[in-house]
Amino acid sequence: MNRQDFPILNEQVYGKKLIYLDNAATTQKPQQVIDAIVEAYSHCNANIHRGVHHLSQIATLRHEEARNHVAQFIGAKSSKEIIFTKGTTDSLNMLAFSLGEAIVNAGDEIIVSALEHHSNIVPWQMLCERKQAILKVIPLTQNLELDINAYKTLLSSRTKLVSVAHVSNVLGIINPIKEIIKLAHEQNIPVCIDGAQSVPHLPVNVQELDCDFLVCSAHKMYGPTGIGVLYGKEEWLEKLPPAQGGGEMIDHVRWQGTTYNQLPYKFEAGTPNYIGSYVFGEALHYIEKIGRDVIAKEEKELCEYAEQQLLQVKGVKVYASGLQKAGAISFNVFQTNGQLIHPFDIGTLLDRQGVAVRTGHHCAEPLIDLLGIPGTIRISFALYNTREEVDIFIAALRKAVMMLS
Ligand code: PMP
Repeated sequence: MNRQDFPILNEQVYGKKLIYLDNAATTQKPQQVIDAIVEAYSHCNANIHRGVHHLSQIATLRHEEARNHVAQFIGAKSSKEIIFTKGTTDSLNMLAFSLGEAIVNAGDEIIVSALEHHSNIVPWQMLCERKQAILKVIPLTQNLELDINAYKTLLSSRTKLVSVAHVSNVLGIINPIKEIIKLAHEQNIPVCIDGAQSVPHLPVNVQELDCDFLVCSAHKMYGPTGIGVLYGKEEWLEKLPPAQGGGEMIDHVRWQGTTYNQLPYKFEAGTPNYIGSYVFGEALHYIEKIGRDVIAKEEKELCEYAEQQLLQVKGVKVYASGLQKAGAISFNVFQTNGQLIHPFDIGTLLDRQGVAVRTGHHCAEPLIDLLGIPGTIRISFALYNTREEVDIFIAALRKAVMMLS
């Protein structure tokens, strides 16, 4: 779908057609998005919010329009609830600091799950260390699904936040976050959703989900690197202190003390990435032009096709096989004697055939340890991938396995 919009897809790797299946790490950019970067720096570059002059006003308008666009894209009630950050990792670190300062004390608990990305683990570990709080982990069932019964037993009056991924960046599975949120809310516990892998693939609406916070990155959504979102319900963001001090986030600065700006600026210290926000808006226009439902449907079909094809390759084990996935599949290949072929070796031989996949722990070491393996091979999709590419990948995989067996 729309492959012609992505110039990089015409690249060759080692003389072979590039098959890019590493979209969970970052997506490629359509010409419209690439052009928007040049256009913005060529015609509309001025620091925002502070200038009385024309360029500054236009740049400010574009930044705020992008904020409104993001709010509407994820179904936020107000654009005050959209904080621009550097990306998912930055958003989670900001939230961990800010929420930690506001409501976490010694003996309190934060809940994450066993399949989280490091960026939804380490900031909470750091917070727990700082505050002598305790990090609790929702275990997985045999099927690699979140164990909801175990989750229920973890929730208590000591729980200050639950933070879980909507879609696993390793397994691609879609977690039952509606249920997770509902169960937490029954005990007045706020929930943060790591939407890094869901917002690019599924229509996500924060009001429908009723999550208290949601984080995502533009670069996984055909947008630029260095910009992302921390969504928070207004009543929460009003309650939380800023995570960083500096220009823009202040109301007045006196030697006696500082008062803070209103939302969302309270959380945006310093010159924001206003070119990034504008270009992110262009990426959202691009996605909307094609249609989020259309993208979700096509990617789902492609994912199912790829899993079926993979399962026909001798020795392949797909993790969380049979579960509904959004955008990513992890697998390994085992020899007839049961020995695992190292994912790195397969990844290298696929690369030589022009197929870009990711191998390793995918920034989710605790999950990989739990699976008892050194890593997986992950293929991940975007709107431009095709069945033909899956077929080429499968042929390349067969060849790699043959060479390594
Ligand atoms: N969470 C998940 C589920 C992810 O897939 C990623 C990116 N791999 C992140 C968090 C971190 O995103 P970023 O590197 O854009 O900050």
